[in-house]
Amino acid sequence: MKAVCWYGKRDVRVETVDDPSLLNEQDAIVRVTSTAICGSDCHLYNGYIPTMEEGDILGHEFMGEVVETGKEVKRLRVGDRVVVPFTISCGRCHYCQKGLWSCCENSNPNARIAEKMNGYSGAAAFGYSHMMGGYAGGQAQFVRVPYADYGPIKITSDLKDDQVLFLSDIFPTGYMAAEVCDIKPGQVVAVWGCGPVGQFVIRSAILLGAEKVIAIDREPVRLKMAEAGGATVISSDDDVHEMLNHMTAGRGPDACIDAVGLESHGSTYDAVKQTLKLENDRPYVLRQALRACRKGGVVSIPGVYGGFIDKVPFGAAFAKGLTLKMGQTHVQRYLAPLLQLIEDGKIDPSFVISHHMPLREAPAAYDIFTEKKEDCTKVVLNPNEG
Ligand SMILES: [Zn+2]
Ligand SMILES: [Zn+2]
Repeated sequence: MKAVCWYGKRDVRVETVDDPSLLNEQDAIVRVTSTAICGSDCHLYNGYIPTMEEGDILGHEFMGEVVETGKEVKRLRVGDRVVVPFTISCGRCHYCQKGLWSCCENSNPNARIAEKMNGYSGAAAFGYSHMMGGYAGGQAQFVRVPYADYGPIKITSDLKDDQVLFLSDIFPTGYMAAEVCDIKPGQVVAVWGCGPVGQFVIRSAILLGAEKVIAIDREPVRLKMAEAGGATVISSDDDVHEMLNHMTAGRGPDACIDAVGLESHGSTYDAVKQTLKLENDRPYVLRQALRACRKGGVVSIPGVYGGFIDKVPFGAAFAKGLTLKMGQTHVQRYLAPLLQLIEDGKIDPSFVISHHMPLREAPAAYDIFTEKKEDCTKVVLNPNEG
């Protein structure tokens, strides 16, 4: 089969590799019909995520048709059309049973690497380094899906791939980031980053009843999309703190959401330290969010951080009694309710797509998306085209 393989910084290649096969009786094999490139794939592409190996198959946002199932798979049948969550979870452990799917105890065979760094390991993910399990990803014609009874959601309606594909990650990720803010009527939510996740944060916050959503970014095309989703927009080149203060009667937003993460722009200090490997992440946005948030407010962090960060105003967070919420998305928890929102016509996630390309053009697609060329907001790859 054809698959998108990682070979190093800014080096992805489409190669012919062996088809996946069932390794466990709870596995299914899915023939991929659509797969997307994610903002967090850019962290891999830019070489920020450790424990990648040459030839690793990328991709964690994908859907398709079940073509084979292991003996123990009961819920899925060959021919089912499914969307697969990016996190791999066993469904049976202490955490999965509590709905904390991204904290699964069993899915990461390389947990020891993460334990060394973080104390404990979270769930594994598709196509996202050996520290995260070393599972082959879904930017390919076929993929092996472990714990097939607990991850994939069946799509039985005639919704298009483009409308349901993002249940795999960015819609639940944006939704959870807004949901954890416990938004009350009349509240103001500020969102840093109008990339694909930020766009879903904005729309979710509005669905959850926010009175006003203020979106912050520097790319005009993304700000325009945010505005179309109901947000009031601010350019990150302006004095963001001052403008937020002004727009909230001097109090600050009730919730501040960092949908940017470890590659934020704006601070030379962090860019230099990150380049010199003295710091893993660039937390410019996180600092701004902690400072801007009103007293007693919530700072929610769907943007990915990977390691250690400098000069985080923890004193401000303490002094203001902030609540911090973060972490990988418990995707499985959101699949059914968010599919229902799509089926009810409350949201059509395909709005975020700017590019459709064949899988064979993945190297160009990574470049266009990472560099935001051609006003790119989201790329969907088709593995079955030419
Ligand atoms: Zn993703
Ligand atoms: Zn589990």
